[in-house]
Amino acid sequence: MALVVQKYGGTSLADAERIRAVAEHVARSTRDGAQVVVVVSAMGKTTDDLIRLAAEVSSSPPPREYDMLVSVGERVSASLLCMALADFGVPAASFTGSQAGIITTTEHTRARIIEVRGDRLRDAMAEGKVPVVAGFQGVSTDREVTTMGRGASDTTAVALAAALGASMCEIYTDVTGVFSADPRVVPTARRLPRISFEEMLEIAATGGRVLMLRSVEFARRYRVQLHVRSSFTWEPGTVVTEEGPDMEQAVVTAVTHDTSEAKVTVSGVPDRPGVAARLFRALADRSINVDMIVQNISSHGTTDISFTLPRLDLATAVEVCRGLSGELGASGVSADDAIARVSVIGAGMKSHPGVTASMFETLASEGINIEMISTSTIRISCVVAEQDVERAVRALHGAFELEAPGR
Ligand code: ASP
Ligand code: MG
Repeated sequence: MALVVQKYGGTSLADAERIRAVAEHVARSTRDGAQVVVVVSAMGKTTDDLIRLAAEVSSSPPPREYDMLVSVGERVSASLLCMALADFGVPAASFTGSQAGIITTTEHTRARIIEVRGDRLRDAMAEGKVPVVAGFQGVSTDREVTTMGRGASDTTAVALAAALGASMCEIYTDVTGVFSADPRVVPTARRLPRISFEEMLEIAATGGRVLMLRSVEFARRYRVQLHVRSSFTWEPGTVVTEEGPDMEQAVVTAVTHDTSEAKVTVSGVPDRPGVAARLFRALADRSINVDMIVQNISSHGTTDISFTLPRLDLATAVEVCRGLSGELGASGVSADDAIARVSVIGAGMKSHPGVTASMFETLASEGINIEMISTSTIRISCVVAEQDVERAVRALHGAFELEAPGR
């Protein structure tokens, strides 16, 4: 019997009616002959609400207690879904992450999975039950309840699919798949029927919000095929899989954008060994995750270093840079939080020169100034002013002919 892991996100389980709709679909899948293992997120905005409550009672909630609190959201969904399944005549049993044998590191709020035991899930299946697992959580090697970061129910699902040898991991959400651009910005964006893990990784890393980045990394490492689809329409969505000979290799597959970053420039720093090392070590010591970095060739022995980082960390980064500027001999530190990144992604780029030139020409024809550029083998990203980004996405989507056919 084919084993399928089905993961349902918060919007798919937002209320009693949605939970019953999900139960009905699980019942249908089992009737069709699949062995189903379900992974659930917390209902609707439950996790946000719990985090807000924590902030109301404490200015810095102890991480252990934070995990005890927020892990509850997924337990609520799991138990309610099992009740609804019983109503549809499907025997089911709910499990916390700990009961499911998801063993993690000890860092509360951002633990990583070390091992998935899953014996109790196998036993439940042997008894003819559908296991329903609370996502996003596990138990640490110190036997404490841990959570794995926002959106981590996807990771739970992929990890279970790998451990149980599932043929497919279906991720049910409120959109019908992965699109060639954000449909709210580009109404003619097209649903992509199939994409490679590499492309999905770049999309997830550059602003495509459908899948959590870490879950895609996990899926690629363990070769777990993903099917991203809607729990509102149940139509086939996007399959994320290994790049195969049968996969159509578009030069450009998607245009993404991200408005969550800010930019810092440290100007007039002396061009000598150790300057960048000192600066980025100091940022790393404050746990700031720097993304793009640009440093120019020096003129007159000094240079400017610019980098992007999450907006949330901007104040800390500026403080770190200002604190170091005397020691580094920099002439100034400036910050800009009204930036955005637009990226063009496609596996076919590896063998097609000229994509970069076309991208820059398109932005130029829109009069959009490029502030920073970075590339990987299958991605080109430009930092532009935030107010220009939606126009940039639309222009690039048109220029690379990604529209839905027939529109
Ligand atoms: N409920 C958690 C969150 O909102 C985990 C998840 O949804 O995947 O981040
Ligand atoms: Mg979620």
